[in-house]
Amino acid sequence: MSTSNALHFDLHSHSTLSDGTLSPEALVRRAHAHGVDVLALTDHDVTDGLAEAAVTAAEVGLHLVSGVEISVTWSGVTFHIVGLNVDPGHSGLQTGLAKLRATRTGRGEEIAQRLEKHGIEGALAGAQAFATGPILSRTHFARFLVEAGYAKDMRKVFKKFLVHNRPGYVPGEWATLEEAVSWICDAGGQAVIAHPARYRISATRLRQFIESFKDCGGVGIEVVSGSHSASDAAGMAQYAKRYELLASCGSDYHGPEQSWQELGRPMPLPDGCVPIWKEWSMGWEENT
Ligand code: AMP
Ligand code: MN
Ligand code: MN
Ligand code: MN
Repeated sequence: MSTSNALHFDLHSHSTLSDGTLSPEALVRRAHAHGVDVLALTDHDVTDGLAEAAVTAAEVGLHLVSGVEISVTWSGVTFHIVGLNVDPGHSGLQTGLAKLRATRTGRGEEIAQRLEKHGIEGALAGAQAFATGPILSRTHFARFLVEAGYAKDMRKVFKKFLVHNRPGYVPGEWATLEEAVSWICDAGGQAVIAHPARYRISATRLRQFIESFKDCGGVGIEVVSGSHSASDAAGMAQYAKRYELLASCGSDYHGPEQSWQELGRPMPLPDGCVPIWKEWSMGWEENT
């Protein structure tokens, strides 16, 4: 692990405990091999991969940040809030996440029913076969549908079946913004808006969302994300400054199959951003 000014941070990634395809151990090894010094494992609505990731991180000499990515419904739209440096043993956080996982199970049944009406049989069992952890995600339905030949690849399958106005779309009723941010803060963590440029909402609504997020106690925003372009990052850096939010960066890595996302590839934060890790204590004398 380097103590130079060139520490590499990747603060958003997924393992087989949610909808990633690498085990926590394999994820940490790959991150290390790609030059990541500080990695956050942020599985959707579950923290069960952190213990295994921590063992491997200690072995290879990588700093693991205990994270989670929480599904939120705000004003009828789904948002994702990343929690960094949460205590996974916090009971309020765990009770909240368990509720979201139950919501996912119910939503999965509904997705399968809708697909069945559309002539696609066996989607629930098919998706469950891809779900190697305790959550059922649209990603698992997508993998089943691709395998069964209903679409060529993940992007096409989402577009055809799993997004708004498509036959297999069920939005899900997730946590409120207040709940998600308070679970994270109560568990000692920092709440961060995930991939803010990816939501299909107007700039006005995004600003309203950011204001509500701050009112709830949120402190960070992903300026750099695997799903952001350079101009998205520049735009989000402006929001970070305007709303005095700390800037985060993460690949949102899900596995080697998604070649457009790689661990440790996030661009540097634009000038003028205050990094979310500025005041972190990572066992080193100086943080960058
Ligand atoms: P869920 O939380 O179950 O609604 O599933 C959302 C997940 O689906 C995201 O975390 C992504 O991993 C994945 N996803 C969403 N849209 C796409 C897309 N267009 N292509 C590939 N994966 C996607
Ligand atoms: Mn995902
Ligand atoms: Mn997300
Ligand atoms: Mn993610």
